[in-house]
Amino acid sequence: MKLSTITSRTLLAVSLAFASTLVAVVPAQAAAPMQHKQVAGFYRTMIGDYEVTALHDGGGLIDSNLLHGDPALIQSLLARSFESDPKNVSATVQGYLVNTGSKLVLIDTGSGGHWGPPTLGNLVQNLKASGYKPEQVDLVLLTHLHGDHAGGIYKDGKRVFPNATVMMKKADADFWLSKEIMAKAPEDAKVFFKIAQDGAAPYMAAGKWKTYEGMDEIAPGIAPYAIPGHTPGHTGYMISSKGQSLLVWGDVAHVGAVQMPHPEISIVFDSDSESAVKTREALMVKLATDKTMIAAAHMPFPGLGRLREADNGVGYDWVPVTFFNLK
Ligand SMILES: [Zn+2]
Repeated sequence: MKLSTITSRTLLAVSLAFASTLVAVVPAQAAAPMQHKQVAGFYRTMIGDYEVTALHDGGGLIDSNLLHGDPALIQSLLARSFESDPKNVSATVQGYLVNTGSKLVLIDTGSGGHWGPPTLGNLVQNLKASGYKPEQVDLVLLTHLHGDHAGGIYKDGKRVFPNATVMMKKADADFWLSKEIMAKAPEDAKVFFKIAQDGAAPYMAAGKWKTYEGMDEIAPGIAPYAIPGHTPGHTGYMISSKGQSLLVWGDVAHVGAVQMPHPEISIVFDSDSESAVKTREALMVKLATDKTMIAAAHMPFPGLGRLREADNGVGYDWVPVTFFNLK
C-alpha cells in the first residue's frame, strides 16, 4: 500500500485490528497498590565551592488570621495563589546544611517534633537520607530560638548533634532562656521558651552552647547578617564562596503568597512587628536589586529562590530555583 492510498478508513481498520490483538495478548493485571511514600526531603546545590543541602523538616498549615493586615486583601492574595482555605494555608519548614569542604555547618534544625503538627520533625531523617550523619555536624547556627528552627537540636534531653557547637546571637539566647521573661509571657507563648531552654541545657552542660554579639565571620565564608525584628536576636547567615552568595534569611516571611507582594503585613510570631516590617521592606529592596539567592525557611521546599520586583509595581515575586542535578 502506497502512502498516498492511506485513508482515515484504512487507519481506523488497522488500529481496530491492532487493538483487538492487544486485548488478546496482554494478560489481565491486578491494580497496582498506591505507595503513599514521598521522595526523601533534601535538595542540593552549589554556592561557589560550598555544597548546600536544603533539608525538609516537614509541611504544615498556617492560619492566615495570624497575619496582621486587611483581611479582605489577605484573602484575595491567598486566592490568587490557589489557597482556598484562609485558615489552612500550606507552609513548609526547612534547614540548610553547608559543607565548606572543611566544616559541616547546619543552619536551623527544624522542630524536632517539639512544636507544630506531627508532620514536622523530619530534618534529621532527611539529613541522613542526604548522605550525612548528625555526628558529622561541626557547627549549628540558629537564626533564632523559635521551636521550628531550634527544636531539632535535642531529643529526650540529649544532644542530637553530639560533636557540634550551637551558636546564636546573644540577644536571642538572653531573651528565650530567661525564666523571668518566660514567667511574664502569655501562656500560649511559653512553649517557645521551654523548647529553647530544654534544647540549650545539654549543650550548655557539655560546654557546646555559644552566643556571639559581633557580626564577624563565624566560619570561613559564613557570616551573620542582621535581620532584626522577628525575635530580639533574629539573624540571617550569608554564605559566600568564589563570588557567589546565599542568604539564609530565617523568618523574614512566613506566608509568601501574602508577604511577598505586601511586605508591610506582619505575623503574630514577630516579637516587634514594626521593626520586622521595616527590616523586611528594606531587605527585599536590596535582595531584588542585587539578585542574591535566598534560602527561606518557610517558602515552598527547597525554599531556594530570588526576589524580583512585581510587574504591577506592588511588592515582589518569588522566583524559585529550577531542579538541577549536580555534575
Ligand atoms: Zn520564627
